[in-house]
Amino acid sequence: MILEILGHSYQYELEKLTRLFFPNEKIRVVYKKSDAAETEPLFRTEIRENNAYVFCCLDGKALEQTVSLKDVEDPELQIASMLFRTLTDLTGYQPKWGLLTGIRPSKLLLALQAEMGEENAHTYFLDRFFVSEEKTALTESVAAREESIIRTSRPDSCSLYVSIPFCPTRCSYCSFVSHAMTAATAKKLLPDYVALLTKEIEKTGAYAKSLGLRLESVYFGGGTPTTLSAEQLGTLLSAIDRAFDLSFVREYTVEAGRPDTITREKLDTLKSGGVTRVSINPQTFNDAVLREIGRNHTSALTESAYFEARSAGFGNINMDFIAGLPMDTPDSFAASVDRAILLNPENITVHTLSVKRASNLGTQNAKVERASGLAADRMLGYAYQKLTANAYHPYYMYRQSKTLGNLENTGYAKAGYECIYNIFMMEECHTVFAVGAGAVTKLKSPHGKEIERIFNYKYPYEYISGFEEILARKEKILPFYEKYT
Ligand code: SF4
Repeated sequence: MILEILGHSYQYELEKLTRLFFPNEKIRVVYKKSDAAETEPLFRTEIRENNAYVFCCLDGKALEQTVSLKDVEDPELQIASMLFRTLTDLTGYQPKWGLLTGIRPSKLLLALQAEMGEENAHTYFLDRFFVSEEKTALTESVAAREESIIRTSRPDSCSLYVSIPFCPTRCSYCSFVSHAMTAATAKKLLPDYVALLTKEIEKTGAYAKSLGLRLESVYFGGGTPTTLSAEQLGTLLSAIDRAFDLSFVREYTVEAGRPDTITREKLDTLKSGGVTRVSINPQTFNDAVLREIGRNHTSALTESAYFEARSAGFGNINMDFIAGLPMDTPDSFAASVDRAILLNPENITVHTLSVKRASNLGTQNAKVERASGLAADRMLGYAYQKLTANAYHPYYMYRQSKTLGNLENTGYAKAGYECIYNIFMMEECHTVFAVGAGAVTKLKSPHGKEIERIFNYKYPYEYISGFEEILARKEKILPFYEKYT
């Protein structure tokens, strides 16, 4: 498969666009007319003498288009549209997100709405980016809710992320740096990890206090933070309580994603430590699918963990699902969504399976097939209809690479239960201090858009051996604020 880039420099976007249609094919990008065999698929994109020209040949069928670029404001968008339409005609496949390959469609929509008004932005999404009516409506709904949360962030706001990159076992689709506790090395690292993390929390909290920042949200993610013992969790929660001023905290989340890590003792520790929101993630309520993806718990265990969290007093619970898991079907996915609605958590997050190279699925050469993308699309469509009909509204959405059908991840919530950390972090509303292995602190200037990142070492063993360097890097915090206030 050959993509010719002639007389322009839009290779990056056009290659990404071609991949939407042929996710598993090898695409050779060339910068001069190729002399490939006539049987090889060829996509020629050319700008010459102020004309854009696209010629595509696939399976013996050829289509071409030429458009004058006179009076065209954005030649890149023009030639991308021509390639998109030609590939749609040749393959009969129309990706629901059209030309959009970015991770935050709602951010783009908000910018367009500010520039040209809501109605024109709507038309622009449909006609210029070829986004479907369904995804445009989803983006509009998310953008409206996101905006109301973004407005609550203040110049002196900040949030805190705590990284616990440990899990009981590794799920087959996972591409995170997370250590399975089945490995003896992970067990050995944990006590030192918690001790050093406590120190990093103390130091970070001291900076936040000295700057007079107002902590709005706390988020423990990973990994599965509840892999830690109740005592270790208690140690970290107490460290946060001592180091930060928690009087303005509006949301305190701990991901308790794997039901096989949840005990009443841990839930009680979280509750008394100030945690207000937990995430208990079924991913699916189909036990055969759970076994297939390497999660060694049953759906019954997920339900009992959920009821235990309710009985421990948690009034804000999230449940994550993944559309497109191996062996799952639209009917079985629909049954999972229905069961979740009956349980009635405040948040339901619906992801699309992403097959990354770093995951076990990726190393087994699992493919992002178009058929699985179409099945995942039906699953997302069902989730949207059912959840919105049951008072869950979409408030948060992002896209990532290598997802089935190039589809999205969407957070749904009952009114007033939207996860504010998700929005603050995704929309870069204010500084997010991040502690632990793999964590990235994002400093944001209080009144502007400047962002500076501080990276921690990725793996727990590096975090432990390079801890002094991690503390030293945090010394950039005060000079950053001095520069921008
Ligand atoms: S629980 Fe989450 S972080 Fe842990 S292995 Fe599974 S997908 Fe990865």
